[in-house]
Amino acid sequence: MRFPISKTKIEGLDRKFNLTDPKERELYFELKVGPEIKKLREYFKKGNTFIAYLLGKKNSGKGTYSTMFKEVVDPERIEHFSIGDMVRMVDGELRDIEKKKELIIFLERQYRGWISTKEIISALEKRNTETLLPTELILALVKREIARRKKKALFIDGFPRGLDQISYSLFFRDLIGYREDPDIFILIDVPEAVIDERIKWRRICPKCQTPRNLKLLATKEVGFDQKTTEFYLICDNPACQGARMISKEGDELGIEPIKERLKTDEKLMEKAFSLYGIPKVLLRNSVPIKEAKNYIDDYEITPEYSYEFDEKTKKVKIREQPWQVIDDERVPSYSLLPPPVVVSLIRQMVEVLSL
Ligand SMILES: [Zn+2]
Repeated sequence: MRFPISKTKIEGLDRKFNLTDPKERELYFELKVGPEIKKLREYFKKGNTFIAYLLGKKNSGKGTYSTMFKEVVDPERIEHFSIGDMVRMVDGELRDIEKKKELIIFLERQYRGWISTKEIISALEKRNTETLLPTELILALVKREIARRKKKALFIDGFPRGLDQISYSLFFRDLIGYREDPDIFILIDVPEAVIDERIKWRRICPKCQTPRNLKLLATKEVGFDQKTTEFYLICDNPACQGARMISKEGDELGIEPIKERLKTDEKLMEKAFSLYGIPKVLLRNSVPIKEAKNYIDDYEITPEYSYEFDEKTKKVKIREQPWQVIDDERVPSYSLLPPPVVVSLIRQMVEVLSL
């Protein structure tokens, strides 16, 4: 599925922005979508909300885009929550006697399904992370999360997860009392090659858990291990005192272990895309290199980092160039940094909400 390229280049705006710097990013959004941001803020101030279901392949950046939208537009009135985090929270509740009791009372009142509450609790307690929980249970839990966030606009990440859940999502807002407010599908189109490299080169700080990427998102300082002749990232957080960032076992395989998951995600997106009656926002992460200069500015392209060890100074030189990636239709493309994708999200939200 290929979505239209959205133009973030503005004629006459020649200033460059360093999009990794928060202050610069703020100015960037102001100059690119200032009036749209204002409209959205007004909308929220009047007490309006929405529910947006994020649909995209695993690791397509759902959390990144919606969190950035929230920070730029209105951190107080917008929330992002993922089904994954929600289930992990439930795991925590099960280990606390009081909270477990409350959860059981809640389920007895709110859950309707084909498996008993008792069976569900025991399934939750024994569950390995791969078992899919019944849709009816997820539904009850999502309902609880939404009730906890009254009067907030929500980005929901991870629901619908299977094809059967699409039909639930249709009457979902009736279940939760957001009757007047719109619900929206946000579909994210990211080439699999991008997802692959995001996983393969992922690095994490063992102390503060900050994620980075050796190829696509370097730290300010990079080290060189003379024994293994490998370069490694050094956490930027001063509290971590130069911690060497590490990779997770299995990450070197990239998308190989999640191929099936990606196929299901693709089908889910197609199904959601072809559904009438619900507004859709289409986000696209890549732009063909041939067309790039008509649509985007250079600084909006994800860079690729490469390194060189200088024997004399014993320091690592960091180089940066636009990263070229082959998209799912074999077209040489650039991948966009998150801010330009969020520019497109902001514009489309204004349209979808008729502001
Ligand atoms: Zn750290």
